[in-house]
Amino acid sequence: MSQTDENLHFETLTVHAGIEPDPVSGAVMTPIYQTSTYAQEDVAVHKGYEYSRTDNPTRTALQNSLAALEGGRHALAFASGMAAIDTILRLIKPGQHVLSGNDVYGGTFRLFNKILADYGIEFTFVDTTSVTAVTNAIQPNTQLVWLETPTNPMLRLTDIAAVAEAARQVRAWLGVDNTFASPALQRPLTLGADFVVHSTTKYIGGHSDVVGGVIVLNDTAVYEQLKFLQNAIGAVPGPMDCFLTLRGIKTLALRMAAHCRNAAQIAQFLADHPAVAEVIYPGLESHPQYELARRQMSGPGGMISFILHGGEAMARQAARRTKLFTLAESLGGVESLIELPAPMTHASVADSPLAVDPGLVRISVGIENAGDLIEDLRQALA
Ligand SMILES: *Cc1c(COP(=O)(O)O)cnc(C)c1O
Repeated sequence: MSQTDENLHFETLTVHAGIEPDPVSGAVMTPIYQTSTYAQEDVAVHKGYEYSRTDNPTRTALQNSLAALEGGRHALAFASGMAAIDTILRLIKPGQHVLSGNDVYGGTFRLFNKILADYGIEFTFVDTTSVTAVTNAIQPNTQLVWLETPTNPMLRLTDIAAVAEAARQVRAWLGVDNTFASPALQRPLTLGADFVVHSTTKYIGGHSDVVGGVIVLNDTAVYEQLKFLQNAIGAVPGPMDCFLTLRGIKTLALRMAAHCRNAAQIAQFLADHPAVAEVIYPGLESHPQYELARRQMSGPGGMISFILHGGEAMARQAARRTKLFTLAESLGGVESLIELPAPMTHASVADSPLAVDPGLVRISVGIENAGDLIEDLRQALA
């Protein structure tokens, strides 16, 4: 199936995009091409595959699938989300400026602030929820604007189309980390972004069994540069990881619908619970950007953050007491997870521009029965 068939709907693309029956056997599922090299018919005459750092057929299928899901022309898969982000940053030269959201993934902040800043790239961290703040922080040497929406763990939203317009004024690229929404809920390229990245470890893989990343983009010349970097640096995913990610993608639409349905019920339960001081969920009318969420996303997602009246002590107790919600980092899998960002996922970025409330609890709502999940939280908060 052609990845450029624009008439097909998202659910159809998750099942079919990039997937062709194997030309050798007719296998309906893309085989795991567990090979490092490929026989050549004659000196430098081959079928398009020479060495698996450069290209591998299982990876090609994954890349074509992800390009179609994001509505982009090209995709490049990586060994992790961080490898994908790092590869985009290799396009930025010393003396150039990157304007980043101040609420980005901790690993992204660490890469920008602790590694790349030492190579002469200038970084500014701003609150991208304010388009004015973005416009004011743009410099003549700004080459890249980088944001996440919704953010982790504060679930703040940025107006992608408005920031894309601001970036275009100075011919800077806009990169959007779409991990929290997944292409099932939000497609930044259609809103004017130049790059979309994912940690496919999360919703796209969806089963907490594989780490991976992807870049999706439209510009063919920039794609050629990134493709060169993908091969030259070599942070590529193995064929088994590509296969697992492809397998996860087939149920992405179903899973995201279930994540959103369950999260909406749980957010309401938490909002009504006397032990809960504040619930942050883009699907609640109390969320400051509820209107933007409705406009920009086709569903509010499966992530909820909340603060308890009892502060950090109560938060730790609740996280220890849940039975169905596993106390663990990461997100986006079929199983529900609970964590405290300040001492867990965000501990390594305590110096980041955004201090996380030590009592904040983050849950990744899975696809279990919503009633069972609510009962689990009820007993944990009792
Ligand atoms: C997990 C995550 C990453 C990093 O991805 P890895 O696959 O862990 O390298 C980047 N951005 C966001 C928003 C994430 O949640």
